[in-house]
Amino acid sequence: MTKYIFVTGGVTSSLGKGIISASLAKLLQARGYRVTIQKFDPYINIDPGTLNPYEHGECYVTEDGAETDLDLGHYERFLNTATSQANNITTGRIYQNVIQKERAGEYLGKTVQVVPHITDEIKKNMRLLGETEDYDIVITELGGTVGDIESLPFIEAVRQMRWELGSHDSLVIHLTLVPFLAAAGELKTKPTQHSVKMLLEYGIQPDILVCRTEHSLNAEIRKKIALFCNVNINAVIESIDAPSIYDVPLLMLKEQLDKIVLSKLKLPTRSEPVLDQWKAFLGKVKNPTSEVTIGLIGKYVELPDAYKSITESFIHASAVNECKVNVRWIAAESLDSKNTSEKLKGLSGILVAPGFGERGLEGKLEAIQFARENLIPFLGICLGMQCAMIEFGRNVLGIKDANSSEMNAKTKHPVIHLMESQKKIKDMGGTMRLGSYPCEIQKGTKAYSIYGKSKITERHRHRYEFNNEYLKQYEEAGMIASGINPEKNLVEIMELKNHPFFLATQFHPELKSTVINPHPLFVSFVAASLANVKKK
Ligand code: GLN
Repeated sequence: MTKYIFVTGGVTSSLGKGIISASLAKLLQARGYRVTIQKFDPYINIDPGTLNPYEHGECYVTEDGAETDLDLGHYERFLNTATSQANNITTGRIYQNVIQKERAGEYLGKTVQVVPHITDEIKKNMRLLGETEDYDIVITELGGTVGDIESLPFIEAVRQMRWELGSHDSLVIHLTLVPFLAAAGELKTKPTQHSVKMLLEYGIQPDILVCRTEHSLNAEIRKKIALFCNVNINAVIESIDAPSIYDVPLLMLKEQLDKIVLSKLKLPTRSEPVLDQWKAFLGKVKNPTSEVTIGLIGKYVELPDAYKSITESFIHASAVNECKVNVRWIAAESLDSKNTSEKLKGLSGILVAPGFGERGLEGKLEAIQFARENLIPFLGICLGMQCAMIEFGRNVLGIKDANSSEMNAKTKHPVIHLMESQKKIKDMGGTMRLGSYPCEIQKGTKAYSIYGKSKITERHRHRYEFNNEYLKQYEEAGMIASGINPEKNLVEIMELKNHPFFLATQFHPELKSTVINPHPLFVSFVAASLANVKKK
């Protein structure tokens, strides 16, 4: 019988519910439990696929092609297990399902209401993964903050689930903030009290409080919170600011969050968590023997969350290389033909990020040309690959107006063009080439030496692709298609001969990098950048 843990948040957003959920899941997994995490988001978009990254950070894509919240990336990176569409549900999807059922006549004769129809649909989705019997424990993270109008139906669904499941098969963890008031020199518990009070108004008594804080919680504070919020003192968990998100599982272990959870769920603690690989990883992240600075050229660099999986992949790769990767964020728009060499000075590697639309295109092309001509290790991802092909077309092949039809639909030389399967598509949501596709790597190429095999699968999120009409010309000039999708003959990896590391992928390797399985492309890109530092 699957047990359910619900994680809610109070006081403010951005307390790190996703990291706490992932850390708890990690500890339970390390004790031998089968755990998954799902996130319920209260917004009305069907999924975050149509959201601007400034609004919501990166859109994370799962194996099955779901466009999801970036917290799912944390779940996968921590647990090293795949998530799917079922792991991320929004209000929009819930309403869509209910309205479709209404049209189909499933509620014939009834008034369709938030309670019970919307809440029933939420509960049904909350149980979906549990019912597969693949998991001992399902952790459900609720997006938003308790008290938000949008969150209400979800909170009500949790209340009902608690009632139906009982206190041994479910529990609620509430994440709050315990702020430090510098003027008073004190930690303050009142926001936590208020936030628990609000949960109580909705009929939910949290079992465990995880208190985000910048200073350690002493026994007195813990006692006060326990008393005013009706929780055991050992269920008041301190979550102090950590140097890295990867420290959080160990901090939670120290606070015994996993043990309290298991005892409340009446599950045996089994063995102590096996975290050897995790600790070895953390040891390497914390004790680098060298340093490398890599430029990340993108359109949304003011908001690093927009490139979350890329920065995390660098951390995984840095551990393997025992070095520190400093990411220098560079706004593509800020680069032009006059300032590029100055702005990119000192970089040992250059990554051009995924993205959409024309803004910053010329700057990306400048950065790529700089990397190509100065033999600086280069990794281009998705739009980054498309830009690299435009740059090569224009500056090496002399096709002056080489472009992507995304940027100029009328270009005479669409070296990047819309995929055949995309031409008739009108709807924007969920219609890109999404999720995992096979790729066949050509032997004897750099990509082959990196992956060490020819059959791989990688995740995608794009509409445009390399135009094969130009392939011969590119290959003759040294730009090789080293990875091809065997079913549709789409170019998936391009690499430049006679360059220490110039590789670009139509897929997103960053979506598959985890602590336990750092992505080989990032590992070797960092290694190449490191070799580039050592040369200087
Ligand atoms: N805008 C490009 C496309 O749709 C690239 C997308 C991306 O970088 N994820 O093909």
